[in-house]
Amino acid sequence: MSFNVFKNTCAGLLSLALCAPALAVTPWQKITQPIPGSPQAIGGFANGCQIGAYPLPLNSPDYQVMRPDQRRYFGQPDLLAFIKRLGIQANAKGLGTVLIGDMAMPAGGRFSSGHASHQSGLDVDIWLQLPRQRWSEQMLLKPQPIDLVDANGKTVNQRLWQPRIETLIKLAAQDSDVTRIFVNPAIKQQLCADAGSDREWLHKVRPWFGHRAHMHVRLSCPAGSLECLDQAPPPPGDGCGAELQSWFLPPKPGSGTPVKKEPPPLPPLCQALLDKHVL
Ligand SMILES: [Zn+2]
Repeated sequence: MSFNVFKNTCAGLLSLALCAPALAVTPWQKITQPIPGSPQAIGGFANGCQIGAYPLPLNSPDYQVMRPDQRRYFGQPDLLAFIKRLGIQANAKGLGTVLIGDMAMPAGGRFSSGHASHQSGLDVDIWLQLPRQRWSEQMLLKPQPIDLVDANGKTVNQRLWQPRIETLIKLAAQDSDVTRIFVNPAIKQQLCADAGSDREWLHKVRPWFGHRAHMHVRLSCPAGSLECLDQAPPPPGDGCGAELQSWFLPPKPGSGTPVKKEPPPLPPLCQALLDKHVL
């Protein structure tokens, strides 16, 4: 998930007051190094934290990391291994360079802005552009997203859409550690149209707000993470039918502004980490 989810829950000027608290610094940002210990993803993707995280190596022939100054490149070992695997596969197929966006903060937890999830070290944003040449440090610090969706929100921009983007999404979806991939509904629709008879992988690709320039990849809970909460699996099938079409219908009356919910209490282990590491 990224900025667009945030925007969608904060539509209109009147709701700015509701959104403001989410911009406050969260205690998790004060933890600048991983919590030592054997690696563990704790809690849910949108209400959790992590122990024993690793930084994604910034210098790799397999991928490039954007906005490293944000220090959002920490994750569980499974996530680091997945990113490396995907980068190697993409290179082997000549797709171009895989661009890595936000992962998690050193101890995970809630960001001040931009994401509701990415909290337990199992989520990563990967951009849907695959440069043929590696980006300079300057470009990585100020990356330019490419909006792949037309202004109508219903179709993919055919001048920008490329089969190799589709191949990248498919490669990620076929990885056995991946449980869900979020993309814009228009992108999912394009994948549905192009998939042909090999459709099994589409099951994991889920339509969501925003995600017009990147995909959000989520891994399932690693075996050793006993306090990690998996989501229910996506509904059966390729997800190309009525559910996807419902994203393109006008909103039902009364379903406009979502009611702001209080965040759920932190998992006890995450609260204990905060109590110990943040004054
Ligand atoms: Zn994301």
